[in-house]
This record gives sequence, structure tokens and C-alpha cells, in this order.
Amino acid sequence: MFNIILFGPPGSGKGTQSEKLIAAYGLKHLSTGDLLRSEITRQTPLGLEAKSIMDRGQLVPDEVVVGMISSALEANPQAQGFLFDGFPRTVAQSEALDKLLNLKNTSIGVVLALQVTEEELVQRLLNRGLTSGRSDDTNESVIRARIKEYQDKTSVVADYYSQFDKVVNVKGEGSVEEIFAALCSEIDKRMS
Ligand code: ADP
Repeated sequence: MFNIILFGPPGSGKGTQSEKLIAAYGLKHLSTGDLLRSEITRQTPLGLEAKSIMDRGQLVPDEVVVGMISSALEANPQAQGFLFDGFPRTVAQSEALDKLLNLKNTSIGVVLALQVTEEELVQRLLNRGLTSGRSDDTNESVIRARIKEYQDKTSVVADYYSQFDKVVNVKGEGSVEEIFAALCSEIDKRMS
């Protein structure tokens, strides 16, 4: 089993690259943003709780997202590996993930960290907001709040995995294909 964290700020291209990576490596895609939006669409109690937090650009409580990931791991016992996208977003989530993977006798193989400048992120998210139907992408102050949450709480996740030598920085600007090739080359080095 080879498990990957695709890491980076909102708008860094995690969703786009995830789709390509899961197809290339046969991984199961676990995006907490997608899981939360599915809860919102189905109007579950969890979705109703999460929506107001997400609309403010803040992070949903750790217990909520860790619970979703735990269920998703249980629901996919046959997976050849997982691609985590948008998770973990705090050190507490990282520690919880390591424990869950440990119980399955596996671990994180690599953390691929996409590097994109803040102004490029804001532009991409505003552009995405024109077509994505995501309310958190249409308002610049919500976008800035999400980037601030990333800087305050999520960027330290890279430090957490650095202590285990698992982080590789990859330039997240350029064509989708160029970035994908750079990610694949890092994965291939570590998978063999
Ligand atoms: P993006 O990274 O582009 O902002 P996501 O779809 O990954 O979009 O996440 C959207 C929102 O969902 C976040 O702003 C946050 O409110 C919530 N969210 C997603 N994943 C997590 C997580 N692991 N922990 C806490 N909140 C999360």
C-alpha cells in the first residue's frame, strides 16, 4: 500500500492533480472538502453544522473530519492506497491520521506540497467561483480567510511530516501536465 498526502493552500491545484494521480496509480481519493460538500447536499446534521463554518472560510472541527476519514478508510478495505486531498489540515488531524493508518499496518509514503504564490491563489479561486457553484469561492474576503486559516493552522502540517523526511515541495505554477509530471516523478522515486 502506498499512501500520499497532496498538500497545499486552497487553490493550489490539489483537486485537479488528484484526479490525474488516482487514475495513474489506482489510488482511492479521499477529499474532506468533497466529503463535506456531499454531507451538505444531502442535508445531514453534519452537513448543516459544517456549512456555516465553511461559508466563513474556517476549519471544521478536527473530530468531525477525522471521523469522516476513519469511516472512509473502513469503507475501503480493498484499496491499494489512498490519496488524501485537503486532509490533514491541522497537526491534531495529522497525528490522528498516523494512528488510523498504523492500525491498518500502513503509513504515509510521501507528502507532495504544491507551491503557489498568494496572489495567484486568489485569482484562481475567484475564477473558479465564476463556474464552480461554490459559495466559498465567490467572495474575496472568504478566500483571504481560507488562506489565513491555511497559514495559521495548516502550513505547520508540512513541518510535522518534515520531521519524518516525508515532504517534497513541487512547483504548483505552470501547465497542469508539467505539474503532474513533476508529481509523478517524485512518487515514482519513492514507490520503488
Ligand atoms: P479548498 O482547499 O480549495 O479551500 P476544500 O474543498 O479542500 O477547498 O475545503 C473547503 C472547506 O471545507 C474548507 O475551507 C474548510 O472549511 C472545510 N474543510 C475541508 N477539509 C477540512 C479539514 N481537513 N479540516 C477542517 N476543515 C476542512
